[in-house]
Amino acid sequence: MTLAETLESLLPTGTERRFGELQLSRSDSGEFVAFHRNNRGMTEDLREIASHTDLRELAKFDSKEEYRPLKTAPNLKCGWVTRSPDSENFLKKLDAIYPGVFATWVAYDLGEHDPTPLRSTLERQTGMYKFAGSITDQMANEIMRETCGKGCLRQIAWPIDDRCPVSRLTGSPRVIPVICTEACTFAVSEARRLVKEAYEKENAP
Ligand code: SF4
Repeated sequence: MTLAETLESLLPTGTERRFGELQLSRSDSGEFVAFHRNNRGMTEDLREIASHTDLRELAKFDSKEEYRPLKTAPNLKCGWVTRSPDSENFLKKLDAIYPGVFATWVAYDLGEHDPTPLRSTLERQTGMYKFAGSITDQMANEIMRETCGKGCLRQIAWPIDDRCPVSRLTGSPRVIPVICTEACTFAVSEARRLVKEAYEKENAP
């Protein structure tokens, strides 16, 4: 089954699902619709965005026109709606907002994509990020809580290391999960910062 066909099967006519900050639905006539969840019940008043390239531009900045380096940060702009006649076109639009996120979920759910433990990601860093690999479990938990938990919509699917596997995430009839299968550059940078800070404290004159 292609990704577009999977999307179609997850969103049969007359149903709706949440996907990150998006509300997805499919009308009885088969049209796919997406808008920001905060705009539920007011789709008549929303600005229509027809193309995936315009949606990609929209996703670059938050409501204060600040750049959004992390596309799964919980600050997507409101006030728009997009409609697609078919699942292939709709998938392009979802990818413009959350690049690769739907594909990651499908591969994970099918058991074709295993999450990478945080320590494996950190241990293969080079250059100035090399030291990130020496984080403690406490620092790892702080990253998960502060960087990921507060600044990102993704649900973490990776364990800290092979010794502590996490439970597998599951979808529901109402939600397409937005998951993280490998720590991103923000988490890696934070690991480096925490290790550096601890080193400087220990070696303070
Ligand atoms: S590591 Fe994953 S969950 Fe954490 S901020 Fe990066 S993308 Fe989000």
